[in-house]
Amino acid sequence: MALAKTAFALMGDWNIAPTPENYELFYLYAGGANVALAKIIDGMIRDKVPFSAPVLQGLCAQFLARERTAQTMEDVGSGISGMLDAVLTKLDRAGKDAGEYGRALSAVSGELGDAQSPAAVAKMVEHLVGATQAMEVRTKSLEGELQRSSDQVSELKTQLDTVRKESRLDPLTALANRKTFDQELNLAIEDARQDGSAVALMMCDIDHFKHFNDTWGHQTGDQVLRLVANCLSENVKGRDTAARYGGEEFVVILRQTSLEGAAKLADQIRANVENKKLVKKSTGDILGTITISIGVAQLRDQDTPELLVQRADRALYRAKNTGRNRVALEAELIRSAASHAA
Ligand code: GH3
Ligand code: MG
Ligand code: MG
Repeated sequence: MALAKTAFALMGDWNIAPTPENYELFYLYAGGANVALAKIIDGMIRDKVPFSAPVLQGLCAQFLARERTAQTMEDVGSGISGMLDAVLTKLDRAGKDAGEYGRALSAVSGELGDAQSPAAVAKMVEHLVGATQAMEVRTKSLEGELQRSSDQVSELKTQLDTVRKESRLDPLTALANRKTFDQELNLAIEDARQDGSAVALMMCDIDHFKHFNDTWGHQTGDQVLRLVANCLSENVKGRDTAARYGGEEFVVILRQTSLEGAAKLADQIRANVENKKLVKKSTGDILGTITISIGVAQLRDQDTPELLVQRADRALYRAKNTGRNRVALEAELIRSAASHAA
C-alpha cells in the first residue's frame, strides 16, 4: 500500500498521465530495487526534465519488458498445460474406445464356435464390420485431433523459444543483458580454467552522456545507445559477448584473447564510435560526435568474476581521468601506482 501511495503521489507531483503502464513504472521506481530506473528518474527529477509521453514510453519499454516476459512465459506455460490436459483426455477416450472394440471382437470370437448356420455367421460378421467401421471413424477423428494438438504444441514451443531468447537480451539495444553477461562471464572463466586460455574484459562508458541527453533529449540519447551497441556488435563476433551492463555502460567478454589483443580491439571500437556521423532522425540536426572510454583487464589465476569486472572498471575510471575517448589497460594502473610510489 505504501508503495502504491508513493507511486500515485509521484505521478501527481510530476503530472504523469495515470495509465496502467505509467503506474507500473512508478510502482517499480517507488520500490527502489531497480537501480538503473532510479538513476534515470532521479536524474530527470533533479534536472527538471519533463516526463513527456515518448520518454515515458521508452522507459516502460525498457524497464517493464522483463515483467512482460514473465507474463508471456506464464501464458505459454498455461497454454502447454491446457494442451496436455486436452491430449490426455483424448487418449483416455481412445483407450476406452479400443477397450470396447476389443470386447466386441472377443465376444464374436467366442460366439463363432457356437454358430449353427451360415446365416448366424453372416450376422456375426455384419456385427464385426459395424464395430470395425465405428472404430475406424473414431480413430480417424482422434488422429485429426491429435494432429491439431501437435501443431498447437509446436507453435507454443516456437513462442517459448522466442521468449527465452528475448529474455536474454536488452530490449533497447538487443545486446546481451546484464543477467546473460553474468552467466557468460562465469562460463568463460570456467572454460579458461580448463584449457588455460586467456580471457579479457572490456568495460566501456559513453563520454559526457549526461550532457548529451540534456542537450538533445532522452530519446536521442537512446538512439546513441543503439549506435554504440551496433559498433560493439559489428566488432565482436563468434564466442565473444557484448552486453549492456547498465544505463550507458557496456561490457565485452573476449575469450582466448590476451590483454594486448583486447587493447587493439578496444581501440578499434573506440575509433569506430568516434567516426560515426550522428544525425537526429526526426530533424536531421547534426549532433556532433560521440566518444567512449574503455578500460581493459585480463583474467588472473585466483580471479572471481567480480574482481575482474572491478579491475576493468578501475581501468575505465583511469581512461576517464586521463582525457576520455581513450583505452586504458589495467597494466597502466599498476605503472601509475608504481610511479606515484617512487
Ligand atoms: P562521463 O564521461 O564521466 O561518463 O560522464 P557522463 O555524463 O556520461 O556520466 P554520468 O554517469 O554522470 O551520466 C550517465 C548518464 O547516462 C545519466 C543519464 O542521463 C544517462 N543514461 C543512463 N541510462 C540511460 C538510458 O537508458 N537512456 C538514456 N537516454 N540515457 C541514459
Ligand atoms: Mg556511467
Ligand atoms: Mg558516461
